[in-house]
This record gives sequence, structure tokens and C-alpha cells, in this order.
Amino acid sequence: MNDEIDILPRLLKEVKDKFELSYGESEIVEKAFLKLKAKKATYKTANEFAIEIGEILSEALSTSLTVDVLPDGKMYYNIAKRLLEDVLGRNYEIVSSYTTGVQKELNTKAKIGLAVQIPSLNKDRIDGFVNRLSSEEKFDTIAWLVDEPIVNFTQSIVDDFIQSNAEFHYKAGLKPEIIRHALSDCCEWCRSIEGTYSYPRVPKNVYARHNRCRCTTEYDPKSGKKQDVWKKTWR
Ligand SMILES: [Zn+2]
Repeated sequence: MNDEIDILPRLLKEVKDKFELSYGESEIVEKAFLKLKAKKATYKTANEFAIEIGEILSEALSTSLTVDVLPDGKMYYNIAKRLLEDVLGRNYEIVSSYTTGVQKELNTKAKIGLAVQIPSLNKDRIDGFVNRLSSEEKFDTIAWLVDEPIVNFTQSIVDDFIQSNAEFHYKAGLKPEIIRHALSDCCEWCRSIEGTYSYPRVPKNVYARHNRCRCTTEYDPKSGKKQDVWKKTWR
């Protein structure tokens, strides 16, 4: 157990240093903030931003976590828990803060005076990662978990934002429209849920994605308002 206590601070620092370095150098991150500043960011930008943040973290984790540095070549529960809660919590903070800015701007443009809904951190999913990682005798067999699933986790922060805000707007009397667009090289499942959906008829699947899915889910609150206006006009 002593090994665990010794290794964690060093490992955490290494992962964080790698993350900060790549984050500071990322053109995608820089462009995303410029777009937000220019009031041109959308949920598509937020998704691209989340993919980049997820990839930066997964790269840092994948290169720092190896069988030789881990005690007994195993990812012990306490290491996994303290490491992932820290770095995934940080990813949540970064993506959440960025996406809040995007939704705020979209609300302002659509003249919606409602507060941005901020979904909470998905702690269950982090617990799932921790349990799965520590369940294997050798880290090697589970190393894939700190790769793409980290990106998927980070993207889901944006998808949760869309869902929370669209549902909130629906409850406020708007008719939010969600557009899911499948990338041509994605899969059958993604193609099956591709489309434009209006509340209340929005399947929950629209907010779900499998590993390596880079499809886009978009929400612009002005779509819901437009429809509302038309309805009134035609009534
Ligand atoms: Zn997809």
C-alpha cells in the first residue's frame, strides 16, 4: 500500500503537466476561444473543443500510465480513484465552463432571458472507470480504458448541456429543435438516429454516443423560438 501513496502525487503531476502543455499549445483550443469571443461558437464548436480536451487528457494518461510505473503493474483502486477524479473533474470544469459560454451566447442571440443550465459532473461514470480499472490484475489488459473512453466522457459533458438546456427551454414554453448529424464514416446506429427532432418528441438516444463517435448534435435555441412565432402567426 505504501507504493500507492508514493506514486500518486508524482503521477498526477506528470499527467497534469503533460495536459497543461498540450492544452496551451492546441490550435483547436485557441480557435474555439476566439470563436466564442467573436460570438460565433455553436454546439459544434463545443463538441470539437471537448474532443480535443478529451484527446489531450487521454494522451497524457496513456503515456504516463504504464505497467512499469504502477505498483505490481496493477492499477490499484486508490490510485485510479484519486487520479481520475482529479483529471476528469478538471476536464469537466474546462468543458463545462466553455459550453456555458456557448449556451449563454446562443440564449442572448435568441433573446432568451433564461439562465444557462449546468449539468452536474457524472460521478457514476468516473466510479465506473475506477472500478473497471482496478478490477484487472494487470493494467495492460485494461489500458484501452484511458484512451477513447476518456474522449467519450468529455464529449458527453457537451451532450448533457444540450439536453439540460433544451429540456429547460421546453419546460419554459419553447419548442427546442435538436439536430443530430451522422458522419458518413460512422455507423449504422448513428445513421438510424440522424435527423431533426422537436420537443417533446426527442428520443434520449440523440444525446448518446458510442466510443469513437464524432457525429454532431446541435441545438440553437432560436430554432424553438422561431417555431413558436410561426405557431402564433398561423393560429
Ligand atoms: Zn456516430
